[in-house]
Amino acid sequence: MVQSVAFIGLGAMGYRMASHLPKHFDTVYVWNRNMDKAKQHAATYGTQAVDLTQAVQADIIFSCLPTSADVEHLINSVQLKSGSIWVDCTSGVPDSARKLATQLKTENIDFLDAPVSGQTIGADNATLTVMVGGDQAAFERALPAIQAFGKLIKHVGTSGAGFAVKAVNNMLLAVNLWSVAEGFTTLKAHGVNLTEAMDCINASSGKSGVTETVLPQRILNRSFPVTFGLPLLAKDTGIALDLVRDANLPAPVIALVQSLIQAASLTAEENSDFSAAIKMYESWSKITLE
Ligand code: NDP
Repeated sequence: MVQSVAFIGLGAMGYRMASHLPKHFDTVYVWNRNMDKAKQHAATYGTQAVDLTQAVQADIIFSCLPTSADVEHLINSVQLKSGSIWVDCTSGVPDSARKLATQLKTENIDFLDAPVSGQTIGADNATLTVMVGGDQAAFERALPAIQAFGKLIKHVGTSGAGFAVKAVNNMLLAVNLWSVAEGFTTLKAHGVNLTEAMDCINASSGKSGVTETVLPQRILNRSFPVTFGLPLLAKDTGIALDLVRDANLPAPVIALVQSLIQAASLTAEENSDFSAAIKMYESWSKITLE
């Protein structure tokens, strides 16, 4: 019986995901490194801003931090409660999930890797896709809590499987983003109206999440709203490339796009959205996508 839940890491995603928990649970602890955000969350949504020691005493503990290294560091700095489940919504590293699941099992604690997709708007609307790896019984126990912010929720395999699906998803996002930059720049160089071209492509076989949402909502209107940082996309493509290498597979496209996104991340202005990766191609071509 789940009596209490906690959410650790109130960033762009976590702040919004945690806002739905009080609709389903009486006791919702929140903790953030910068505690002002936790206090603001508590005042706005009726959660309880507590210290980390108390947060990790919940029956289900969610985390959503930048990297698996951050999560490992946190877990290794606290004493968890036997019988609890740690549900990590970070876009993390599969090997780290396996390590943490094995380590925590010795303390009778389950660790699920449960990264999310759907961006901040999906977190606002509780319509995130959640891909979960780990023990099936723990997944079933955690499912009602995950449903607070998730819409499509899938148990995709053993520990690490959720992180692997997320890394490949974001690699596909990156490949689409880069190919849209090249393709639409080519169209502009040939004098084609980009909005009309986009409408045609979005009713054709070349469409993708990038042409349907990122291109109109972030690139062509030059807004590049910072909701998913470019360094986070670079991190995810790196995880995907590591997975390919671990499997001894050839992946020329993934390797190239990972390098391009990494370069874009290193050369972009600080605090850039992932969609701003296309600006590197714009600087090469001297053509702006607008
Ligand atoms: P943000 O950068 O907005 O937030 C990061 C959060 O982690 C903040 O609460 C920050 O605390 C905290 N944090 C950072 N480092 C540490 C640390 N060492 N110890 C403790 N807390 C720390 O990130 P997002 O919310 O955008 O992303 C979080 C995860 O979700 C990432 O893995 C990302 O790839 C993934 N993701 C993001 C999506 C998006 O659209 N933004 C979509 C899907 C997945 P503080 O406030 O103190 O800085």
